[in-house]
Amino acid sequence: MSNISQNIEQLKAQLPADITLVAVSKTKPLTDLMQAYDGGQRIFGENKVQEMVDKHGQMPSDVQWHMIGHLQRNKVKYMAGFVELIHGVDSMRLLREIDKQAAKHDRVIKCLLQARIAREETKFGMEFSEIRELLNSDEFAGLEHVQVVGLMGMASFTDDRQQVLSEFSSLQQLYHELEDLHELSVLSMGMSGDYPLALQCGSNMIRVGSSIFGARNYH
Ligand SMILES: *Cc1c(COP(=O)(O)O)cnc(C)c1O
Repeated sequence: MSNISQNIEQLKAQLPADITLVAVSKTKPLTDLMQAYDGGQRIFGENKVQEMVDKHGQMPSDVQWHMIGHLQRNKVKYMAGFVELIHGVDSMRLLREIDKQAAKHDRVIKCLLQARIAREETKFGMEFSEIRELLNSDEFAGLEHVQVVGLMGMASFTDDRQQVLSEFSSLQQLYHELEDLHELSVLSMGMSGDYPLALQCGSNMIRVGSSIFGARNYH
């Protein structure tokens, strides 16, 4: 058996059954994705639309594709026909565009609102107040082709466990505040370096790349 399918099996064996594993395959070749597929993995995460479209065309049709990256509005149309879940929605303008493109395919696209929880300046996402406002807005209520099913966040890239825990817990609190009222069911937090901490804070969807596929080479 290949290392990649072994990594998948080991990771899944450690995870509680109700935790969804998104295998983050960005920059990795199809042969690597197929090894994960052969290990039973069906959910893959990509952060570039073009790369996801290409891989979608070449992988088996029962793969579910999650867009996990920062998304430009003009790219939504390329994936609107097949994307399963968009993790990084960070504005009403983007949600409006997803709604418009989903309508053309007669679909309802599931989305997560990305919250800014890291103290680092570089991380994307909405303030908690903006998330509350969006979910309560009349405009949002009028969108028929998007469904916000949960929240997503990325913690600071740091060895300070207490800081990471406090960032994840802040999002857990927001999720608890909103989940019943807005029928949320997904809390997407945790990557290779911090998913055990995210699980302690109630995450039910982790996005793991390098622990499965090995380190990425960026050119
Ligand atoms: C790349 C990426 C991941 C996975 O990162 P690893 O550290 O390789 O597990 C998770 N989430 C997002 C949003 C990413 O861009």
